[in-house]
Amino acid sequence: MTTLAVPTDLAAFADHVREQLQALAPAFVGEPSALEDDDRIASVEELRDGHEEEVAQVRALQAALFDAGIAWPSGPVELGGLGLTPAHDAVLEAGLSDLGFPGRDALFVGLNIVAPALRHHAQPQVREAELVALYRGDKIGCQLFSEPGSGSDLASVSTKAVRDGDDWVLTGQKVWTSMGHLADVGEALVRTDPTVAKHAGLTMFLVDMHAPGVTVRPIRQMTGGAAFNEVFLDGVRVPDSHRIGELGQGWRVANTSLGSERSTMSGASGPLTPYVLERLTALVRRLESESDPVHQPQIARTVAAVTAMRAAAGLSAGSWTHQLEPVAGSVLKMLMVRALDEIVRLVQAVLGERLAVDHGEPDTFAWSEFVLGVPALHLAGGTDEIQRNVIAQRGLGLPRR
Ligand SMILES: Cc1cc2nc3c(=O)[nH]c(=O)nc-3n(C[C@H](O)[C@H](O)[C@H](O)COP(=O)(O)OP(=O)(O)OC[C@H]3O[C@@H](n4cnc5c(N)ncnc54)[C@H](O)[C@@H]3O)c2cc1C
Repeated sequence: MTTLAVPTDLAAFADHVREQLQALAPAFVGEPSALEDDDRIASVEELRDGHEEEVAQVRALQAALFDAGIAWPSGPVELGGLGLTPAHDAVLEAGLSDLGFPGRDALFVGLNIVAPALRHHAQPQVREAELVALYRGDKIGCQLFSEPGSGSDLASVSTKAVRDGDDWVLTGQKVWTSMGHLADVGEALVRTDPTVAKHAGLTMFLVDMHAPGVTVRPIRQMTGGAAFNEVFLDGVRVPDSHRIGELGQGWRVANTSLGSERSTMSGASGPLTPYVLERLTALVRRLESESDPVHQPQIARTVAAVTAMRAAAGLSAGSWTHQLEPVAGSVLKMLMVRALDEIVRLVQAVLGERLAVDHGEPDTFAWSEFVLGVPALHLAGGTDEIQRNVIAQRGLGLPRR
């Protein structure tokens, strides 16, 4: 790990990161020709069947970033971080994307949802060991929140945990578990006390996904991928040391994870990457849509929505997101889905039936995967309606209806 002084100024830090990344690029960045051949464009990045090699490469990249000292700019120095800010994390993400490094989607949940909960609420030994494992790519994390009967009404989860000596025994079913099939650990929201008000009876645990009693079954989506899973917990033992936060404080811990999820999925780690925007710009130029009065209003709406979203994400990474969580995350997420909707409308308008039928013309039908993934982003991390409720009630103090 590097011990050299790291600049804190964002521009100087970006240069520092770029230098480190350039040294790693030969091992991880493919030849431009290979990238150009890949016509694929997705809003929900899904690992395809036979993705083991891809996952191994992402883990190796994460280990290399960790060893270079840049894997976790905002993390504590004693855990391999740099003690900087979320704005520095965004600089790293932008650098990786600009230099064409492979996406680290397999790590998204572990780094942006599980890690914040561990950092702020876990017991010291587990906190340190598991955070380092996640940030080195040694472990992949998943989020075990949603259940068949509990999505928006997350506080109604019924998976239960019963104390047995030094352990807890977990029984129930989770669903929509992104990357559950790859995960080594899962952040599980469960009911420890069914006799109190629903929000007060919850506790969070870190589950070993390889423990006896854990069964993971993939769910195939309309995009063709299978990044989701059902997870069955059948008498799974979890030591009390792996309780995240106090007994009965699971809702508080869940909100740490959800606030971070909403902000990060709307920022540099989200679907609106420079790559997507470059492909969109290239498409519009190639089809000469900019000079077509039919398409100009939609181009303007798209540019406005994308610009607003990117400006807000930049601001939040620097300052207010982490103070206002989860409200800022909800605002950012709404701006992101609005921008995605405008892109979908634009792509539909300029491509027409080429979006639905593959004529073999490059950069046309490829957009169908992007378009089909966008509805999922209106749901993931909490639906649009729930974000609006969060903003109205917790942000603006409006009464519940
Ligand atoms: C791409 C993706 C990845 C995901 N990954 C994970 C994951 O890794 N782990 C995990 O635990 N979950 C995950 N989820 C699940 C996600 O969190 C839920 O789908 C989401 O919270 C909605 O829950 P639900 O699907 O049960 O819908 P429901 O809660 O049944 O909602 C159905 C509809 O009713 C509306 N509605 C519900 N309650 C209200 C209300 N109070 N006010 C107004 N409208 C309301 C909703 O907005 C929605 O339109 C993922 C989902 C997606 C799409």
